[in-house]
Amino acid sequence: MEIRKGVPVSAGYAIAPAFVLDSERYRIRKRAIGKSEIEAEIRRFEEAVKVSRQDLLDLKQQWSDRSGNRLSELFDSHIMVFEDKRILDEIKKRIGENHFTPEYAVSRVFRKYVKLFMELSDGYFRQRVSDLHDVERRLLRNLLGKKRETLSRLQEPVIVIARDLTPSQTAQLDRNMVVGFATDAGGVTSHTAIVAKALDIPAVVGLGTITADVSGGDRVVIDGNRGHVVVNPDEETLKKYRVLSRNFQSFEQKLNEEFKNLPAQTPDGAKIKMFANVEFPQEVAIALAHGAEGVGLFRSEFLYRGGKEPTETQHFEAYRQAAEGLGGKPLVIRTFDLGGDKQFMKNPETEPNPILGCRSIRYSFKHLDQFRTQLRGILRASAYGDVRILFPMVSSLEETMTAKMQVDETKELLAREGTPFNEKTPVGVMIEVPSAALTADLIAPHVDFLSVGTNDLVQYTLAVDRVNERVADLYQPAHPAMIRLLKHIVEAGRRAKIPVTVCGEMAGDATFTLFLLGLGVTELSLAPALIPEIKKIVRSVTLAEAREIVEKVGEFGKASEASAYLRQRVLSILPEAF
Ligand code: PEP
Ligand code: MG
Repeated sequence: MEIRKGVPVSAGYAIAPAFVLDSERYRIRKRAIGKSEIEAEIRRFEEAVKVSRQDLLDLKQQWSDRSGNRLSELFDSHIMVFEDKRILDEIKKRIGENHFTPEYAVSRVFRKYVKLFMELSDGYFRQRVSDLHDVERRLLRNLLGKKRETLSRLQEPVIVIARDLTPSQTAQLDRNMVVGFATDAGGVTSHTAIVAKALDIPAVVGLGTITADVSGGDRVVIDGNRGHVVVNPDEETLKKYRVLSRNFQSFEQKLNEEFKNLPAQTPDGAKIKMFANVEFPQEVAIALAHGAEGVGLFRSEFLYRGGKEPTETQHFEAYRQAAEGLGGKPLVIRTFDLGGDKQFMKNPETEPNPILGCRSIRYSFKHLDQFRTQLRGILRASAYGDVRILFPMVSSLEETMTAKMQVDETKELLAREGTPFNEKTPVGVMIEVPSAALTADLIAPHVDFLSVGTNDLVQYTLAVDRVNERVADLYQPAHPAMIRLLKHIVEAGRRAKIPVTVCGEMAGDATFTLFLLGLGVTELSLAPALIPEIKKIVRSVTLAEAREIVEKVGEFGKASEASAYLRQRVLSILPEAF
């Protein structure tokens, strides 16, 4: 049994066999084989080695015929692994002595060497890690043959272990079978964290080397409340987690039943609108089941999941379906936020620094055809509900005006064609870049609402990559710089008499509810499963108390002091919050 500590990003508990995404692509079962099976299983392993080695020799020959020795030599390092007696004997020993299936033995032994190579300071060995992964995959493919279970077609629940989940991997997930996530990389606002929360799947990220420590088929426990991952737990630990899991599920259920139909209103009458963040159209129903008053952030990037540009009809149908599902409640559709940490398509123009590159609204302005197609889809859907448009990563008033101009021109075309749409479709911008936050007072008079993307705003303000686990401890939403920016944005919204929504992960983090309330934020948009808990906090404090808390927080010079104070205040209201 081994316990690893990471960053908890989605609450709850999961117990299931591991599916190690980066090394396997296929599901491996941990099953003890009988004594009588050992000989046959070793033969099956030897056969797979033979076939895999021959595959490589054939490939090497093909490449040498085509391009000479230069490229074909690349296969030599892989072939050498199949000739390494030490590795092969160790795998056979695991099959013979531990009664492991060949698949599980391969995964265990390769994991050990990957870890060893990664720890060596010699660059040569570290470069060999990807060779080991390739060889392992080839071997598993030949061992598993037709029985291969991929991530999109699983037959049993699994916990996905990955370096980090890419958006296209997330899109492939069989969501009924993936019960937990654990990743090497990431922080509280990484894509994996957001998806886990949206799907209400327990998750721990930023574990550093979990992909090297866990083998496919190992039994794993995810403790999404404390940020623990237990690998191959003993019976006593398992029993403890089964009880914790049952209790947590009934706690969540009760909380939802109690608060679902109550307004998010303080005892002295201040009302907060609770919207949901949604990644896929199917989640609209989940949002409503948790008492959401609409969708405050519909991340439209899911339409790119096949790596292909969506058509106008695909846009329109997805948005119309969501708008109709909401039955008149607001649906805020964010235009594509592509690039940066959201790489959906193979980008031929590699950028040295994609987070500061041609991403989001900048990408849309460079690909006006795609942008216009999306705007047409959104505007057409506006005839079917309360649809609103939100532009991501705007950094200035100029960009705001350019984006609005595209909307106006699209409207003109639709009107000329006689296509129905809502002429008064509200338009808002995300405030998630410090330049936009500092000029929110200039931008606010020109839009219908502001939506604060705290995930990126923290990243850009504090210069901390939101997906890099090495700087996860510097990712501090309670930093005085953030507190000042938030105050400024809310004040800009108040003066322009437009609503300010907070839609980053801060909105669903109980630590900040009292603070945001006291600041004057009137709308929150968060993962549906978190709505009941945040509502409970809102209903337990007066606006006057919340304002006092804001005063106090403004006095702290250190983020750690501010967040400790905020947590302590929340705990006095909701002891089970953390
Ligand atoms: C944000 O940046 O806070 C946000 C809500 O957008 P995303 O997490 O999709 O970048
Ligand atoms: Mg963002």
